[in-house]
Amino acid sequence: MSAHIIPQDTSVSSRMYKGVIAFIVAAPIVSLLLLVWFRFGNWLTVMWVVIFYFMIAPGVTVGLHRYFTHRSFEASLPLKVIMCFAAIITLEGKITTWVANHMWHHQHSDVVGVDLHTPLEQEGIRGLLYAHVWWMFPGRNADPKLASHLTYDRVVQFFDRQVLAFFLGRALLPGLVCGLVGYVQTQSIQVGTLWGIEATGWSFVLVGMVHHFTWCINSICHVWGEQPYRTSDNSRNVWWLWVVTLGESWHNTHHAFPRSSLQGSAWWNDPSYCIIKMLEWVKLAYDVDRYVPTQNRRDAKRKSVMT
Ligand SMILES: [Zn+2]
Ligand SMILES: [Zn+2]
Repeated sequence: MSAHIIPQDTSVSSRMYKGVIAFIVAAPIVSLLLLVWFRFGNWLTVMWVVIFYFMIAPGVTVGLHRYFTHRSFEASLPLKVIMCFAAIITLEGKITTWVANHMWHHQHSDVVGVDLHTPLEQEGIRGLLYAHVWWMFPGRNADPKLASHLTYDRVVQFFDRQVLAFFLGRALLPGLVCGLVGYVQTQSIQVGTLWGIEATGWSFVLVGMVHHFTWCINSICHVWGEQPYRTSDNSRNVWWLWVVTLGESWHNTHHAFPRSSLQGSAWWNDPSYCIIKMLEWVKLAYDVDRYVPTQNRRDAKRKSVMT
């Protein structure tokens, strides 16, 4: 396959595809504005959203990225099912499409016209916006064959086939459940309806948080930050994003050692690695540290070795 051919995703019509992307991008922003405007929620609500964020975001960082794409560790069947579910409810699309796009990114990082989301595609702030969100609108995706290791994975294929059902469930269920709870507690349809609307809004804000912190890796982590390691791209380590990205913002280190389950400089600054280690302790994950580079390998790839 030519390095310069990125087939269009023809599984959905172009207009419908763009409509879904526009909805997913706009819904969290509109929800947040309306929630603030109508003063729906309080600090307790915000705290729950933050807790849910740290429960759901590993679906992207541990699941989609470190397991399904880079195979940094092995997973038992129950863990694989959990990771598929966690990944699909983040509304970042099909697992195989995400994996193929990310593998393509590693193969052609920051090659203009080839890498799907390099900030170099446009000048200045427009390049940052392009890499953050705008790259999705043309509907270009990498060849799904890049994710060929998942072609015969029956768990992944099941979740990918049901992506629309999970999308609708994720969009509607939080509001329906909270609305029902509100109605049962108060016997008031009005209260139930308000609870349902509020829960739907906050659940979309949660989706938006996961998306924007994921997208920061494509945008900010290829523009600003440090490059301690030699790589053929613009990947950067951005220390101030490591908590909210669960350790994914050590992106230059990741490009230097893509298969490592540890992306930070130590376990304590890489929450996703801590989660993987905890999964190993409870025997759901194994072979966790097989690709973690030794200090010697790290030093050998450093741009300037301290003596
Ligand atoms: Zn990158
Ligand atoms: Zn990666």
